[in-house]
Amino acid sequence: MERITWDTPLGGFPGVGAARQRALAKLGLERAGDLLTFYPRRYEDRRTVWPIAQAPVGVDCCVAVTVTRPAVLSRIPGGRQIVRCTVSDDTAALELTFFNRPFAQKALRTGGRYILFGKIDLFGGRRQMVNPTVEDAARPKLAGTIVPCYPLTAGLSNGQVMAWVRLAVEGCLDQLAETLPDQVLAQAQLPGIQWACAQIHFPKDPAALEQARRRMAFEEFFYLTVGLGVLRKRRETHRGAPLTAGGRADFEPLLPFALTGAQRRVIDECAADLSGDVPMNRLVQGDVGSGKTAIAAFCLWRAAKSGAQGAMMAPTELLAHQHFETLRALLEPDHVAVALLTGSQTPAEKRAIKKALAAGDIQVVVGTHALLSQGVDFRDLALAVVDEQHRFGVNQRSALAAKGRHPHLLVLSATPIPRTLALILYGDLDVSILDQLPPGRTPVETYLVSEAYHPRLYKFVDKLVDQGRQVYIVCPAVDESEAAEGDPTLRSVTQYARHLAEAVFPHRRVAFVHGKLRPAEKEAVMAAFAAGEVQVLVSTTVIEVGVDVPNAALMVVENADRFGLSQLHQLRGRVGRGKHQSYCVLVSNNKNPETRARLKALCATTDGFAIAQADLDARGPGDFFGARQHGLPTLHPSSLWADVRLIQQAQQTAQALLETDPALTLPQHQLMWPRLRQLFAENPDVFN
Ligand code: ADP
Ligand code: MG
Repeated sequence: MERITWDTPLGGFPGVGAARQRALAKLGLERAGDLLTFYPRRYEDRRTVWPIAQAPVGVDCCVAVTVTRPAVLSRIPGGRQIVRCTVSDDTAALELTFFNRPFAQKALRTGGRYILFGKIDLFGGRRQMVNPTVEDAARPKLAGTIVPCYPLTAGLSNGQVMAWVRLAVEGCLDQLAETLPDQVLAQAQLPGIQWACAQIHFPKDPAALEQARRRMAFEEFFYLTVGLGVLRKRRETHRGAPLTAGGRADFEPLLPFALTGAQRRVIDECAADLSGDVPMNRLVQGDVGSGKTAIAAFCLWRAAKSGAQGAMMAPTELLAHQHFETLRALLEPDHVAVALLTGSQTPAEKRAIKKALAAGDIQVVVGTHALLSQGVDFRDLALAVVDEQHRFGVNQRSALAAKGRHPHLLVLSATPIPRTLALILYGDLDVSILDQLPPGRTPVETYLVSEAYHPRLYKFVDKLVDQGRQVYIVCPAVDESEAAEGDPTLRSVTQYARHLAEAVFPHRRVAFVHGKLRPAEKEAVMAAFAAGEVQVLVSTTVIEVGVDVPNAALMVVENADRFGLSQLHQLRGRVGRGKHQSYCVLVSNNKNPETRARLKALCATTDGFAIAQADLDARGPGDFFGARQHGLPTLHPSSLWADVRLIQQAQQTAQALLETDPALTLPQHQLMWPRLRQLFAENPDVFN
């Protein structure tokens, strides 16, 4: 085989045929260089080989053994094959059981010496191991090392992937370019990229692995901060149109309610921004139900009163409809023309609205991403509002803004994020927080129950539906296959919905929705629920985002321990939006005291920011970086290795660098550009 370089196609690797090449491509791996940044998900520490009697119980470990009684293959009812064998060393005996691994019988010669890796359990005073991995004691490859475990897909084994990664590391590690300036590496005491990459794949010890991970995670947040900082600086040089007409006092009488103190404060912050010629770039974070729409309404109204136009983009048709109805009711009495633009309108309707927008006859338009399409032009777009922003990427934000000449931007988000993280994740935005709910809400009553409670829970559902209410039931998995991959005890949407519809609520209308359905199907089910045609909706977390069904009064979350607190809080926010007393029931059989304490904390408070902080303290910042959660560039999985201190260090280092070189023009900073462009690749115009 020829020498492997960065660009060697994986098809040229030993043992990679067409099928495996396809499997690798599914993981995003096509060339040798791709393997270098394909990091292990976890590791097996096989450095110590234990005597049987001293080996720890209940955790994976290696033992060196001799086969003392021959391996026997038998069948058990259900067609499963089982191999049993007894092994020992000077200290004790160990019984091995292999399920569905008939080849184990031949692999284990009586009298042969092997190193096993697996978990020892005590069963009636005897030591047992189920399905250990077996290596020849004379030629162990894995025993004595820390073994990387890669995220796999069907048709690939960890051993193969490991071997290919090793070839790639040997062949092209020297082509992996350092992008962090020397000064940054020195200041933050980070190892170089090549050493770190080698250690991530094949760590020599846990300390080296930790250092390597620190470096990779640091890099992720360093570049995020630098990138967002450059964006912000650039935007501050833009000049837009100040929107000065229309003060809060003239707006408040249009509302059917009195603003909360927090709403007044945030409206004033927006008004100050809008009055300037540097375009506003503001994120308003507020818990579900905190009244963010009123903030948007104020800004849109002010744009109209100032003789310009405003646009509001929502992630779904249903939400766009709801906003349209709300804004029309508020603003039309004050002679502001409001229109709706979505993909499902007829071509004639769309044409008429586009014409009116271009002519300036419509001042406020609400829509879905249809607003971004070609041919939607404004006479004078001075304000862009993006609702529930974590469903949109930075690029869509700027695509909407591109419809005007540096318009003001308002972003609304219902995902409370602790301040320390918000400053980084939203580094290019100013942040306002709506930390007060409108008065007169009855807080949602939250309970934690075990699965044994189901019969009573079903009765409760029945009672609420009899009263005319509607119910959400959320499950962690989509279907059986997804549940089986993760954990067979998980409830899945399709299976549970079928069970509920057939066996529990045959007299009710039960529907289900999940992310694998086509968008039109999803919207249709959600619309039927919003219209009251469906009484029990079984779903995954796809219903998390913004839909307002005030008649829904119960949120049931199955396998609640599988969700982060913030996510559970978001789900709970789907109920309690109307005048009815509402309930959230968390179902979990998990007995882990920490898990129970976490879930109990949710029963005790409804303050989203307090919950987010608790989540951060208990689970680290990883949950907050979930793919696209925040409309940011997708972060590399290595971001999950960061802790809050490391993130702050990366941020401070990045800010110090930007202070000395705001536009990154110094020669020693040129090496950063390729990495920045790559991070914001979805938004190519940003850095060119
Ligand atoms: P969110 O922040 O989740 O987008 P909304 O703007 O949809 O919240 O507001 C939720 C509900 O609260 C709406 O029915 C809205 O009319 C109502 N609301 C908003 N502000 C107030 C207020 N200051 N007083 C009373 N009700 C309010
Ligand atoms: Mg909202």
